[in-house]
Amino acid sequence: MSRIAYVNGRYLPHADAAVHIDDRGYQFADGVYEVIAVQDGGLIDEELHLARLDRSLAELRIAAPMSRRALGLVLREVLRRNRVRDGIIYLQATRGVAPRDHPFPAGTSPSLVITARRGRATNPKALSEGIRVITIPDIRWARCDIKSISLLPNVLGKQQAREAGAYEAWQVDANGMVTEGTSTNAWIITAAGELVTRQASNAILNGCTRLALLEIARRVGLTLVERPFSVAEAKAAREAFLSSTTSPVLPIVRIDEATIGDGKPGPLGRKLRELYAAHSHEQASRSGEPRVA
Ligand code: PLP
Repeated sequence: MSRIAYVNGRYLPHADAAVHIDDRGYQFADGVYEVIAVQDGGLIDEELHLARLDRSLAELRIAAPMSRRALGLVLREVLRRNRVRDGIIYLQATRGVAPRDHPFPAGTSPSLVITARRGRATNPKALSEGIRVITIPDIRWARCDIKSISLLPNVLGKQQAREAGAYEAWQVDANGMVTEGTSTNAWIITAAGELVTRQASNAILNGCTRLALLEIARRVGLTLVERPFSVAEAKAAREAFLSSTTSPVLPIVRIDEATIGDGKPGPLGRKLRELYAAHSHEQASRSGEPRVA
C-alpha cells in the first residue's frame, strides 16, 4: 500500500508530495512541527501537542493553517488513508510560499504538510539494557522553547552521538548545566531519590512526554524537583533516563565514560515507564474523535 501525505489541502501519494522551492520552510526554516504518537489508532497527548503547536505558531507570528477541529479531522484522515494504528504522525506548518526575502511576506497563507508512518516501539534491547549518552556544548539559539524546524545543531549533536557509539547527546549550557537531549528531555534520580528535570524555559523544549510524566510523578507522590542539574551530578545519579514522544522513558546507563548506578536500568525509571504506558493506553482509548475546540 502506498503512503499518502497531506500537502496544503490535498492527499497525495508520498512520491508526488512536494512543496514549492519558495516555501519559507525550505528557504529559511521559517516553520514549526509536531510529532504525535499513535497507539491503537488513537493520538497520544493530542491536546498537549496541539496546544504546543498553537504556542510555537503564535511565538513566530505564523497564522494557524486551520482550526483545531479541522486539524483533528485531517490528522485522523491521514492515519486512515495510511492505515496507521501504531506509529507516529508528523506535521509541519510554515509561513508559506513567497519570493525569497527575509521580512514576513504580506498576504501569504501558511503551508501545512502531514505524514504518518507505522512503528514507534523503542528497540527492546535499548529498553532492557539501557543506552549511552555523551555530553556536548549546547550551541542552539535562545528560543529552544519553540518547536522550530530549524534543527541543525540538533542534527549535528545527534550525529556526534552516533559517531561516538551513543544513542543521544545531552547538551550542556555555559554554566555546565544539562539543558536536554537533541530530540529528548533529560531526567535524573539523585542519590536522595529525587526525580529531577530542568524547568521549562527558553532553554529547553517543553516536551509533551515530559509534561505527562510530571503529572504522573505528582499523582503517585514522587519527590519531584524541576531545576537544572550539572553533568557531574548526572554522572553521580542513581538513575538517568530520557523522554520523548518516540521513546517515552528510555533508561541511560552511561554518560560519557561514567556508569550510572549499577550500570543497569533502574527501578524508578521502569516504574515511570509502566505508568506512562498505562497513561498512553488510557489516552488511546479516548482519542477516537477529535475534541471540539
Ligand atoms: N527536546 C527536544 C529538543 C525535542 O526535539 C523533543 C522532541 O522532538 C523533545 C525534547 C521531546 O518532546 P516530546 O516529548 O514532546 O516529544
